[in-house]
Amino acid sequence: MGDTIFAKIIRREIPADIVYEDDDVLAFRDVNAQAPTHILFIPRRPIATLNDLEDGDATLIGKLVLAATRYARSEGFAEDGYRCVINCNGHGGQSVYHLHLHLLAGRQMTWPPG
Ligand code: 5GP
Repeated sequence: MGDTIFAKIIRREIPADIVYEDDDVLAFRDVNAQAPTHILFIPRRPIATLNDLEDGDATLIGKLVLAATRYARSEGFAEDGYRCVINCNGHGGQSVYHLHLHLLAGRQMTWPPG
């Protein structure tokens, strides 16, 4: 897997508005926000897409989801709700090939997504 813009953010080579980090997960505001709150949760370990997940990644993916849901609760979005999205490859709309979970909140979402 080649280097990505998110790897550069992890290494602090380019700036990002980081809102959460721990040993496994980093979270920062999307530069092109699609909702009043739009945060990207990424594993520090580079995994390109959902297709690349293996059984041993179950704990890591759990941590990613829990980091996002904890953040959503802490920001007061639990009751109104929010959306978590992981895009995969071209038809999924993935543009950065370092696995990331979008947390979108602060407005009414619609279905189906575009
Ligand atoms: P994807 O389309 O791969 O699911 O989502 C990639 C997301 O990364 C997009 O929402 C895009 O706005 C965001 N993004 C791309 N480059 C940067 C960047 O340099 N900084 C930040 N904070 N977000 C980025």
